[in-house]
Amino acid sequence: MTPNQFFPRRDGVMYAENVALSAVADTFATPCFVYSRAALTSAFAAYQQVLTGRDALVCYAVKANSNLSILATFAQLGAGFDIVSGGELARVLAAGGDAGKVVFSGVGKSEAEMCAALEAGIFCFNVESPSELERLNQVAGRMGKVAPIAFRVNPNVDPKTHPYISTGLKSAKFGVAFDDALNLYRRAASLPHVRIQGIACHIGSQLLDPAPIAEAAEKVLGLIDTLAAEGITVQHLDLGGGLGIRYQDEQAPSHADYLGPLLAKLAGRALKLVFEPGRSLVGNAGLLLTKVETLKHGEAKNFAVVDAAMNDLARPALYDAWHNIVAVQDSAAPVQCYEVVGPICESGDFLGHDRDLALAEGDLLAILSAGAYGMTMSSNYNTRPRAAEVMVDGEQMRLIRRRETLADLLAAEQTLL
Ligand SMILES: *Cc1c(COP(=O)(O)O)cnc(C)c1O
Repeated sequence: MTPNQFFPRRDGVMYAENVALSAVADTFATPCFVYSRAALTSAFAAYQQVLTGRDALVCYAVKANSNLSILATFAQLGAGFDIVSGGELARVLAAGGDAGKVVFSGVGKSEAEMCAALEAGIFCFNVESPSELERLNQVAGRMGKVAPIAFRVNPNVDPKTHPYISTGLKSAKFGVAFDDALNLYRRAASLPHVRIQGIACHIGSQLLDPAPIAEAAEKVLGLIDTLAAEGITVQHLDLGGGLGIRYQDEQAPSHADYLGPLLAKLAGRALKLVFEPGRSLVGNAGLLLTKVETLKHGEAKNFAVVDAAMNDLARPALYDAWHNIVAVQDSAAPVQCYEVVGPICESGDFLGHDRDLALAEGDLLAILSAGAYGMTMSSNYNTRPRAAEVMVDGEQMRLIRRRETLADLLAAEQTLL
């Protein structure tokens, strides 16, 4: 597999746009996430193109990558945001995002989070349980406000993806059961401090087949008709996120192929459409740049111990996810089969198994497709400061998050004697 067009290889060196990754490492050190601004813009444009001429809102799922510069990039392009916490709302507002384009998902919104979102004036709460509905009504009442709501319904469609990222099945903790939705809408219609705004679903992540989302849309449209027959009108249909990307050799559908069947089902309906893509907007717009610390030739395996680890990129350890790993510079070293691992004291601390690489100690590696669920899932395990983040834009490279210091890590703690 070759790197994508935003991370080209020129004269034996890998670039982010027009900046050599070796220059990024020289300037900002490693490990370091590197994003391409053009890749972000292009991924957003792909949604806009397919949705041209429709009343549609693309709400970037902040949890995929919540760096302020990334949020600001999407805000400038006109995006809304899908948030799952009060913290993410604060980020959106700090990045200049429009609160009026924010949808708030999540199974456990606290009263403080509800207040903050009502104060900011968000577009819609995606309500995921009967008790959340009652609580939101009370909180809004106390504030003298009316909360715009959609129920996140569970269409019980199998998205055919990894069980950890499949969210629309009956057994999932997310959303309300499809068969309960009608009664919940009736209840909502009777409450003074909520206003029915829409209906939402999100069936899973890394979806590669357009059929499940179209099937979900069809089911939800049936429910919209049932509601309309009772005089309950919804203004928008939120179909969540989930479009998959190519990590290895997956055939990710084009936006037109993915959304086409679904859009066809919506023909002739006066419904605003909302999408909540995360991975497909940022996943292949970023990579994790790391340096080989040690080459270790064990009895059974060769290890390339790098300075990035599972605390920087959890997906391999967490989901057994496969990320392509490429040497940043061509090397005369012999190609050998390596386990690419981090320095953390866990056997699960790997970034890739059985990779054929020509490496010497000190070489740089790029772990591709690390723009989504990379930095946001990182931790300080083993007291490792979190990596720096760099945005490349043409010839420019800019630090968008400085590397954490050990002082940052200790700052919140006290030594009790
Ligand atoms: C995670 C999530 C998304 C984004 O999913 P992607 O697969 O990254 O597109 C959208 N909506 C909700 C409710 C989510 O939980």
